[in-house]
Amino acid sequence: MGNSAVLCIPLAFWVEGSIVVGVMKIARNTVAAIHYTLTNSKGNVLDSSEGSQPLEYLHGAQNIISGLERALEGLGTGDAKKVTVAPADGYGEHDPRLVVAVPRSRFPEEEEILPGMKFHAQVADELRVMTVTSVAENEVFLDGNHELAGEELRFEVEVASVREATAEELSHGHPHREHVCCGGHGHGHCGGHHDHHGK
Ligand SMILES: [Zn+2]
Repeated sequence: MGNSAVLCIPLAFWVEGSIVVGVMKIARNTVAAIHYTLTNSKGNVLDSSEGSQPLEYLHGAQNIISGLERALEGLGTGDAKKVTVAPADGYGEHDPRLVVAVPRSRFPEEEEILPGMKFHAQVADELRVMTVTSVAENEVFLDGNHELAGEELRFEVEVASVREATAEELSHGHPHREHVCCGGHGHGHCGGHHDHHGK
């Protein structure tokens, strides 16, 4: 699976050796950059920022899963922490009601539907991203659970930097840097998801 499935890694321009002024701690309305490695309960590495830019997020704006956000509160640059996040504070429990079969005729006829493609669909009064799991002759099977639903997530994090958010970042609810991806501009293209507005 691609990195984007777990945590969006902004393709931000990162200045090596940025000077950190003061001892700012992660708190509401700060922008923190973190390096992280995510493993599941079996110890398999699911995602990591190793070898790339740290993940930058606006604290308190739900840019990242709540269990991780809470655990990062109060940390400063250079602080490291191991965080275990239960499914309820991560990507939720696996919900069998979100596994559905949809007639093939509901999809654009001219387009080939393949496993892994993502569509928006209205399920139980909620617009959800549904992933195609398999395709039969007349039906398409979709799963609206996050692929990490039901998983206990184990993060090893290290804070790379903390800074105050700008007024513009606060009004948008996400960090701004050149080519910022996560929750930022260019909605729906984070990690190149193949999103369609289906019915
Ligand atoms: Zn913005």
